[in-house]
Amino acid sequence: MRHLVNVRLGSDQRNMIAADMHGTYEKTWAELNSRLREIEVSGGGLGGALMELECHQQESGFIKLNLSSVERHVFAHPEDPSRFFRVQYNPERALRFSGSGLSAPPPGSDIKNDGCFLCRDNIRWQQQGAEMGYEVHLGENSYYAWMNPFPLLPTHVVIATTEHTSQEWPVCEKGTLDVSKLLNDLVGLSTRMPGYLGFYNGVNAGASIPGHLHFQFFKRPDDEPEFPLECVGRRHRESGRDGMFLEDYPLDVAMWTGVPEEVLAQASGWIADWATRNRKRINGLTANFIVSSDLDGDAITLYFIPRDRSKTHGDGLSGLIGGLEVLGELVFSSSEDKALLDTGGVDFFSLEKTLACVRTPFYTD
Ligand SMILES: [Zn+2]
Repeated sequence: MRHLVNVRLGSDQRNMIAADMHGTYEKTWAELNSRLREIEVSGGGLGGALMELECHQQESGFIKLNLSSVERHVFAHPEDPSRFFRVQYNPERALRFSGSGLSAPPPGSDIKNDGCFLCRDNIRWQQQGAEMGYEVHLGENSYYAWMNPFPLLPTHVVIATTEHTSQEWPVCEKGTLDVSKLLNDLVGLSTRMPGYLGFYNGVNAGASIPGHLHFQFFKRPDDEPEFPLECVGRRHRESGRDGMFLEDYPLDVAMWTGVPEEVLAQASGWIADWATRNRKRINGLTANFIVSSDLDGDAITLYFIPRDRSKTHGDGLSGLIGGLEVLGELVFSSSEDKALLDTGGVDFFSLEKTLACVRTPFYTD
């Protein structure tokens, strides 16, 4: 079909082809979504449906990176090997800036919301029909799950609202903050995806598309399922230490574990109080939220990491510091990053220092 578009055609013919492509996209979408729904409800769960979407998107050529080219390195503390960070060297990720699809729509399609990459109406023509998503309903809210074309981990998916709505967290004019709706959806998705980790990167805290609300989820890697932040959290719980603040980590982190409803109520309430105490500086703050659900889906763990909007990068790392870096896995992709890795310029302490660059204390008073 694609070669036909390049032939010199009259406008009526072009419009017919555009309508035909549109119709083909909708038909393929409907068939795929019905197959994925069947997988989800017949025991595969949302996680199973997304793994099938991943296969579909690998076959269609939309997923451009094979994770086998990714190298992982572990850097442990020399005296306490239970403390560690990971580096992921992912060279093909550097290509992502050159592969964002068409920038101008064919006849019959319009650019919506300045070409936003998470609006379905744009995705259809930008990716020439190759990118398909899965519609996920969560109470009254609806989302599309889209595969990441340059994944960092297995089944790396972006779950974006169907409507174009901002990624900003909801600070109201008086400076109060109510994250209960945001967390409700993040946690709701997580409980349907045991074995996955999910996160929300606030604007200036790693969000790559700040114009359109989205979460990211990925499946735990089989070989190294626990992330450095989670390991510190587990040791905190096992040692019976009181409180929800983690120690031994370069960032300020609050953690809640328990049944989803209780975690949601406790975290939303605590964060609202925290925001009140930080009213004077709240407009300069943002956050990462990270959530994981245990394998039977009964208990969740939620992490809240406050961030300063002016601190987006850490020394010694070219990319943004987002949820994965906050979890303790830093993504290296540039040649400068690789040179640092090859010349022995990376160790536990250098990575700790990189993360500490974005450390934002809970309170300044
Ligand atoms: Zn959008």
